[in-house]
Amino acid sequence: MATVVDTLEQVREKVEADERLDFEDGLTLLESDDLLGLGELADLARRRRGGGDEAYFVQNLYLNQTNVCRVKCKFCAFAVTQKQEGAYTHSPEAIVEDALRQRELTGFTEIHMVGGESPHVDFDYYVQIVRQLHEAMPDVHLKLFTASEIHHMSKLGGLTHEEVLRALRDAGLGSLPGGGAEVFADRVRRLVAPGKEHPDEWFDVHRIAHRLGIPTHCTMLYGHVETYAERVDHLLRLRELQDETGGFLAFIPLAFHPENTVFERRGWKQSAGTDDLKVIAVSRLMLDNIAHVKAYWIMMGMPLAAVALHFGANDVQGTVVRETIFHAAGATTETEQKVEELVRYVREAGRVPVQRDTLYNEVRRWAS
Ligand code: SF4
Repeated sequence: MATVVDTLEQVREKVEADERLDFEDGLTLLESDDLLGLGELADLARRRRGGGDEAYFVQNLYLNQTNVCRVKCKFCAFAVTQKQEGAYTHSPEAIVEDALRQRELTGFTEIHMVGGESPHVDFDYYVQIVRQLHEAMPDVHLKLFTASEIHHMSKLGGLTHEEVLRALRDAGLGSLPGGGAEVFADRVRRLVAPGKEHPDEWFDVHRIAHRLGIPTHCTMLYGHVETYAERVDHLLRLRELQDETGGFLAFIPLAFHPENTVFERRGWKQSAGTDDLKVIAVSRLMLDNIAHVKAYWIMMGMPLAAVALHFGANDVQGTVVRETIFHAAGATTETEQKVEELVRYVREAGRVPVQRDTLYNEVRRWAS
């Protein structure tokens, strides 16, 4: 009978021969308990595909335009109804004013903004946000709105995904973040996000965005009800679209935080660090056509994110001013990570810290 070591060796042979891994390989990797072996294999794959010693980060500002949402995903601790205490919907003017104020403090190069799917705004609200931000800060890259939000806008405006994306692009949109993907398998969606549109819509939005020259990101929210097979299926679907379009800039695995959700009342706990590292490693190994895998420190903490740089990750995301969605769900990491701290962690991990812009152009490099 083949041992785990044997099966990892079989995957290693494929990696060394630059052969594409298949569904069974993905399962084998996730079922393996040889965590260090997985990390080593993922790092080997990263380097064979052109990765070096660089570990990237971006200076970015996180904003949420509204926390009012009609969808009610079961894993979400952020959304409220319009009538609930604490509900907010910021005007485009207020968002611009806030961003300008923040810029004086941090000098970010990117704004990352997502929010709830509010039925109380119209499509022009979104266009105005993009236009006014772009006019106020033309040199800042606008990474705004998940595919789910784009789909929501198409319903609000009676428009196609393409019409929505064209209008936003023409107003100054630079790229899309990767949220809303969750786990694509129908079974999982029914359990955790029954109110969300079918994953086909997520793919349609990203495919059209790529065709229109709008690069996007992709994610997987893991650590809830999904099986290993459903994780691998998710990764393979992303790989397939990337084969077709080449438009994904980076993959970001997102660990599920049960705090303040219905799952906390059922006694669920956050994923263990070992699973986080395993997901990073397997993502790197399976996604042979996506150049960047992020260890999202806001969710896993900077010490583990630094370790993840040896498990296939090559990016720790950003300085992240004011992240609220995952903090509503209990993430306890500092929301304003200073550049010096990021640099220190990356250096201690033996990597070269490189500040990048959204499109992975180098902004600044530190000695290792
Ligand atoms: S995850 Fe997004 S779509 Fe789902 S309830 Fe929360 S804000 Fe709404």
